[in-house]
Amino acid sequence: MTSLEEERRIVPFECRGCWHVWEEEYLVRHVDDHHGNAGEVWLRNGLPVPPPSPGAICPRCGCQSATTFPEGYLARHPELIPPEQPAAPDATPLLSPVPRPLY
Ligand SMILES: [Zn+2]
Repeated sequence: MTSLEEERRIVPFECRGCWHVWEEEYLVRHVDDHHGNAGEVWLRNGLPVPPPSPGAICPRCGCQSATTFPEGYLARHPELIPPEQPAAPDATPLLSPVPRPLY
């Protein structure tokens, strides 16, 4: 009798070379055969892959110095995620901090 449990995990990565930040989605299959052989199988696109670890390859610059964050790290540090779209122009006109004379 084996029990099988699957869990979706989003793992954040950051490249130490170009500071690119990205996330990869994994499916983690928890395997327990009740003989003390509990383990995890990491799947990506349905294929078993090694668990994410520092040394991942950066998709932008190709170097192998990417590091992982704890899951949920980016949710607490949204400033690390580069905006997908260029920021919308700010409708607020730039105001000089010094008030102009009115005449
Ligand atoms: Zn990189």
